[in-house]
Amino acid sequence: MELLRTTHLGKIYSGQVVHRALGDISFSVEKGEFVGIMGPSGSGKTTLLQLIATIDNPTSGEVLIDGQNPHQLGHNALARFRRQQLGFIFQDYNLLNTLTILENIVLPLTLEGEKVRTMEEKAHRIADRLGIASILNKWPYEVSGGQAQRTAIARAIIHEPKLLLADEPTGNLDSKSSRDVMETLTAINRADGATMLLVTHDALAASYCHRVLFIKDGELYNEIHRGDSQQAFFQKIIDVLSLLGGNAHDLSTIRV
Ligand code: ADP
Ligand code: MG
Repeated sequence: MELLRTTHLGKIYSGQVVHRALGDISFSVEKGEFVGIMGPSGSGKTTLLQLIATIDNPTSGEVLIDGQNPHQLGHNALARFRRQQLGFIFQDYNLLNTLTILENIVLPLTLEGEKVRTMEEKAHRIADRLGIASILNKWPYEVSGGQAQRTAIARAIIHEPKLLLADEPTGNLDSKSSRDVMETLTAINRADGATMLLVTHDALAASYCHRVLFIKDGELYNEIHRGDSQQAFFQKIIDVLSLLGGNAHDLSTIRV
């Protein structure tokens, strides 16, 4: 079953200089699939994710999530759709510094008016799964980058979204924490059948995906599938990145 489809999706930023960030992007993602998106800096990865996340509007084409075009919803319905159906993970965690780790995790449920007791039960269950049960009463500035990102993941999945969108979630992490985060995302994908889209510069992170789409200058460039071996997939990803050129093959971002 298809969960996401983009059809001829395009984005032109019209500021002082008109810039075509995305050309004509069509692809679909099956329910439960874990798909990576790679490409050089400035190739349009974040723009693509933001159009799918309905954070920004396309200038052409459409997005369907579970058969629904969220860009056609009115203001309130769209806010509800985003809150209930989507989960977001960002490079810089986006935790609220005035809330504890526990309060950050339950934020999406707070917005839905869930009972405090239900929220805390759910938070403890997720925290156990993600290995952050011992930091629930800490403040964001007291925890490590890896723990902060696992908190952000917990917050992104606590309301069981249909689609989880992550933009460079390992971008600020050392290699050990990156692996932890990717293993956490993989476990969530397997256990919950969550559909996930991961934008990343990091070939090792991308090698956890089932399939990787490459974009160059706002257009789809290539697509490769994982198969059985993560190691072989990692090597294939590196090969495509070399062909892609640009700074996609920046050695500093390849962690072996
Ligand atoms: P990536 O995430 O692959 O690095 P982006 O999607 O952030 O790429 O950006 C794609 C292109 O669109 C870049 O050339 C960038 O400068 C431009 N761009 C991104 N956001 C804006 C914006 N709000 N206004 C104008 N241009 C933008
Ligand atoms: Mg980006």
